[in-house]
Amino acid sequence: MHYDSILFDFDGVLADTEPIHHACWREVLAPLGINLDWETYRTRCIGLSDWEIMVMLATEHKPPLDPHLLYATRPVKQRMFAARMVAYPPIREATVDFISSLKKYRLAVVSSSDLSEIEPPLVACGIRPKLDALVTASDVKEPKPSPEPYLLAAHLLNAKSPLVVEDSLAGIASGKAAGFDVLRVESARSMPEALRSWLDRKNGRAPNFR
Ligand SMILES: [Mg+2]
Repeated sequence: MHYDSILFDFDGVLADTEPIHHACWREVLAPLGINLDWETYRTRCIGLSDWEIMVMLATEHKPPLDPHLLYATRPVKQRMFAARMVAYPPIREATVDFISSLKKYRLAVVSSSDLSEIEPPLVACGIRPKLDALVTASDVKEPKPSPEPYLLAAHLLNAKSPLVVEDSLAGIASGKAAGFDVLRVESARSMPEALRSWLDRKNGRAPNFR
């Protein structure tokens, strides 16, 4: 299989943003009696939309809370997140260099976050001009794990054989439901090496031969 395009998730694939998302949610939800620890966030929230996370936390709270009450903190959380993204740029230089080396593929970012959250860091690190499309929360009716986000990105790129790069269960399910190959990566830190050796294998080259 030779890919004509690569569709990247953003959080946890291009950028080390999940700890920042977690810290911001933890801070804004604490006054409402929600104690969101990292393990719960890491294992159960990553890959869900913000609304889905709020519904889960509200439903499991004793006594149950109105999810709208939790969701109302979202604008504050987003402002907090944007400020921290500027203070601590979350995209590593090795990732920027690696993306720049992928000249033979059309590239897109497919995220359940808002455009306002992911575009500024992509612009700041210089990756944005290399992307042919950005699909974010407001572009789709059904978020991941629905196939819609990845199908839309493939359509925008006129891609016939895309590869999806994901870190979360919901994202992987979305890419597979769209009918595309999915590479699962552990973290943004390990993504460049994992994707490079995957592409080398698919292209029939030994991983160390470049
Ligand atoms: Mg992710």
